[in-house]
Amino acid sequence: MNRTSTHDGNEPRAVDTQLVTLGRDPARFDGFVNTPVVRGSTVLSATVADLEGHTGRYTYGRRGNPTLEGLETALTALEGGSGVVLTPSGLSAVSLALLACLRAGDHLLMTDSVYQPSRRLCGTVLKGFGIETTFYDPLVGADIAALLRPNTRAIFMEAPGSQSFEMQDVPAIVAVAKAHGITTLIDNTWATPLFFRPHDVGVDLSIQAGTKYLGGHSDLNLGVISAGAAIWPALKGMHGDLGLTVAPEDAFLAARGLRTLKVRLERHQASGLTVARWLQNRPEVLSVLHPALPEHPGHNVWKRDFSGASGLFSVVLRPAPKRAVDAFLDSLALFGLGYSWGGFESLAIPFDCSGYRTATRWAPGGPAIRFHIGLEEPADLIEDLAQGLERLNAVAAQGETPED
Ligand SMILES: *Cc1c(COP(=O)(O)O)cnc(C)c1O
Repeated sequence: MNRTSTHDGNEPRAVDTQLVTLGRDPARFDGFVNTPVVRGSTVLSATVADLEGHTGRYTYGRRGNPTLEGLETALTALEGGSGVVLTPSGLSAVSLALLACLRAGDHLLMTDSVYQPSRRLCGTVLKGFGIETTFYDPLVGADIAALLRPNTRAIFMEAPGSQSFEMQDVPAIVAVAKAHGITTLIDNTWATPLFFRPHDVGVDLSIQAGTKYLGGHSDLNLGVISAGAAIWPALKGMHGDLGLTVAPEDAFLAARGLRTLKVRLERHQASGLTVARWLQNRPEVLSVLHPALPEHPGHNVWKRDFSGASGLFSVVLRPAPKRAVDAFLDSLALFGLGYSWGGFESLAIPFDCSGYRTATRWAPGGPAIRFHIGLEEPADLIEDLAQGLERLNAVAAQGETPED
């Protein structure tokens, strides 16, 4: 049983129980089970002494709100760090976390497999602020030591890699960073703290796009950063200085998502593996990039460090004309064509990392598609994919006629 201790030092409880109890205080809200959506900027004080002495629990909407506080408290306990801040999107969580630990003249090591908008940030905002980035091979492990410079201040990881699913040896990289006083960050959106707890292996900043599994219903954008003790004051300070906050409705939805996160993730995991294994056995498929499959090159690292897999993975098809792959995607009835993932619904997108990777070469041997497996019946998803692959074969065969 995956256990984490509660933040207030009470008896440790199972995660399943924590997801139900954390961040709720019915006694405070007239018995209502859920912390309500509290809207507000101004918070009134009874007297000048109260105003000037900041005696109230809250002082101003941007500085603290009961709805947000409930979610922050719950996530702090789940992550096992010193504190959590919420941001308006996953990408803003990445940018805030980086700004909290980097200054002009610093050097950042960034995984080449990072979520593409996070990569872009390095070449735009960070570069403009005088912070230099070196992209590194996600499989580098302890050899990251060779890339360190005297001014290297932070190492950013993402495991598995966005779209391409390389697993990183997080403990090995953290060991090198710790020996040199370097801050470590990870984008942990894929696993969520239920399947991987970055602070347990010494990572300083654990980032999640709450947009994905935490929200879980494709109806909000939210970012979560959890900080270890050393970096928490800097993170909290930067969050306040930049004036970041999130809408109470979004925090409410994320807290609601939290209650069912484990049941949903378990179903995403099981259905994802069922569909992934079916795809592995299809003649049209060259490889399935899913770290929970024993054939995946990062499987042993995944098995060592993670306690589960979510519903997102990629597939490399055998070489096929683009119009055949497009016909496959266009024919799918249950897989939406759209960005993001982590909601209840299945999705598929074609992708190609070859245009922007710099430390590694993306040449998987065929067209690549990323799938998110939702909460539908997997047999229905497989039936949809089967008819889609027939369509792919039919369109590919048309291309082989002499008059084409
Ligand atoms: C979606 C995503 C983000 C960004 O989240 P937004 O809410 O869309 O800004 C960051 N990292 C990863 C790995 C993601 O998949």
